[in-house]
Amino acid sequence: MENLNWKRVKENLLDILFPRFCFGCGKEGIYICQSCSLFLTENNLICPICGKASYGGKTHNDCSTKYTPDGLVSIWDYEGMMRKAILSIKGNDNYHAAEKIMERAFLDVMMEDGRFTDFLEFFLMKNTKITFVATDKKEKEIRITSLQLEQKNHAEEIAKKLARIAPKKKEVISLLAKVKKTKKQSELSKKERLKNVKGAFEAKSEEIPEKLILVDDVFTTGATMRECANKLKRSGAKKVWGFTLARSI
Ligand SMILES: [Zn+2]
Ligand SMILES: [Zn+2]
Repeated sequence: MENLNWKRVKENLLDILFPRFCFGCGKEGIYICQSCSLFLTENNLICPICGKASYGGKTHNDCSTKYTPDGLVSIWDYEGMMRKAILSIKGNDNYHAAEKIMERAFLDVMMEDGRFTDFLEFFLMKNTKITFVATDKKEKEIRITSLQLEQKNHAEEIAKKLARIAPKKKEVISLLAKVKKTKKQSELSKKERLKNVKGAFEAKSEEIPEKLILVDDVFTTGATMRECANKLKRSGAKKVWGFTLARSI
């Protein structure tokens, strides 16, 4: 009983802090209203290496090596309403919206759809831990000068929300460090992106958990995710699944 009340207090507080408006039509009360949710496009799942269709998002056998990610789940297309939602989450640090949208993805999409079974099984395993793509100091500094009081890494915040969705709370661990300055991936060609992130990350710890979910906000060419998975696996991870809110290819 007590727990329930606290939950309600917290929900009310969050409503005051982050009034909810539909990202599609602006209607108050919910982030994505019933009628707008019909226009959301769920993604076809793809192999994170070649970008071609793959049932369940598993990396094709022919595409995988010891150091590639084992699969990828990106829930939505990065377009229309979801693009608006993600830009708002990042621009306003509105991670409450991220959590609600992810809860919905798990309940309405992933639990109902057999394609997500491989990922969900892995996600729910007791010793699967969650980690995230690192940002470098420079990006954080820019945010401070624009009077952002807290230093946020979007991938980390999304990882924390993902961890809360699990029936038993999952651990989120910071395992990667950004060790090279990179240009904005969105400004580069596919070839340049690969070069840009090469050697940009390092595993911070000698003791990397064997089972990991690697979180980022948007999957574009996958160069960042592949580079991060590579570093995690070279440092001891055995299985790494990528997870992003959306995908833009
Ligand atoms: Zn709406
Ligand atoms: Zn493939």
